[in-house]
Amino acid sequence: MADLSFLDREIAGLKEQGLFNTIRTIGTAQDAWIEVDGKKVLNMCANNYLGFANHPELKKAAQEAIEMYGVGPAAVRSIAGTMSLHNELEEKLAKFKNVEAAISFQSGFSANTATIPTLMTAEDVIFSDELNHASIIDACRLTKAKTVRFKHCDADSLEERLKEFAVARRKLVVTDGVFSMDGDIAPLPELVEVASRYDAMVMVDDAHGEGVMGNGGRGIVDHFGLHGQVDIEIGTLSKAFGAVGGYVSGKQKIVDFLRQRARPFLFSSAATPADVAACIKAVDILTESGSLVEKLWDNSRYFQDKLKALGFDLGVTVTPITPVMIGDSNKAQAFSHSLFENGIFGMAISFPTVPKGKDRIRVMNSATHSKEDLDFAAGVFEQVGKEVGIIA
Ligand SMILES: *Cc1c(COP(=O)(O)O)cnc(C)c1O
Repeated sequence: MADLSFLDREIAGLKEQGLFNTIRTIGTAQDAWIEVDGKKVLNMCANNYLGFANHPELKKAAQEAIEMYGVGPAAVRSIAGTMSLHNELEEKLAKFKNVEAAISFQSGFSANTATIPTLMTAEDVIFSDELNHASIIDACRLTKAKTVRFKHCDADSLEERLKEFAVARRKLVVTDGVFSMDGDIAPLPELVEVASRYDAMVMVDDAHGEGVMGNGGRGIVDHFGLHGQVDIEIGTLSKAFGAVGGYVSGKQKIVDFLRQRARPFLFSSAATPADVAACIKAVDILTESGSLVEKLWDNSRYFQDKLKALGFDLGVTVTPITPVMIGDSNKAQAFSHSLFENGIFGMAISFPTVPKGKDRIRVMNSATHSKEDLDFAAGVFEQVGKEVGIIA
């Protein structure tokens, strides 16, 4: 038997540094109010931006899909055939995003690991924002291509790097659209402009932009009016879309090639009929009306204004993601704990998800909250902020 005592030491180390994460148990559906460890609390940490995770129309679509198609896809699509549902989702997503084509995956994480290693090989160079999501970092690690990082949201730094590696065969610039821990957004017009001068492909991971940014939630490319100029958009169906899954959208050729060669497509089963049908309904609802997206933004502005007026530091956010900066892991944990005691579910985020010293409570606004919910939350933040010594 191998000696596993190193794990005792690792776990003890995490506990000493205030980095040991105790995962709470949710006893209800995802909504504005949920039951966590048996206590009813206001939910301020889900990515359920639009309330689709427990939306009656999505649930009905999922139930009908189970009746018609059963609960599982029973194989990978390239071997045993694809259900018409998956094709329908891809067609609707491509239309919604105003791109040539889309291909769905089991998650946003697998969409990234499907795309980057399929396009990039040993003779190629990937240019990656230094704060990109872990799934992009891992996708880069799965290639033999060289990966170089450019400074966060800095097109000049990207250009320096592109100059340095100008001889690379293929070049890929990759960035998050919305950065999930700070809520800032990539300077996409500048990145696209620089990339085009160096003949580099551009890929944007829009996991926190789908359903949030752009006209009716069409994402960050739509927000900047860059249709046709971004080669690849990665999307997740697990955040604003409320279910689980991921997709890649963009140029037809890229999607065609991924269908032939992307390993998570070839070697992992497709999403379930219920998930896919729920996502189709989400796209239908968003295609019809932007009212949920408007409510999300309305709520976000309202709550962020309140927190700022109380003296909280919200960092650099320009989206509904609201980091309440604390700066110390033990204080952040104490803050989160006290929020919970007072009826709010808001999680502390620490290293390695954010850099050391950048500990925070990450508040997620959503269209499910009422103004009364937000007033209640602001009151509790004020009380806890004073208690922990974050505001005066
Ligand atoms: C959440 C997230 C993902 C992963 O999406 P899943 O569908 O949860 O796997 C990928 N990229 C970014 C930028 C994300 O924020």
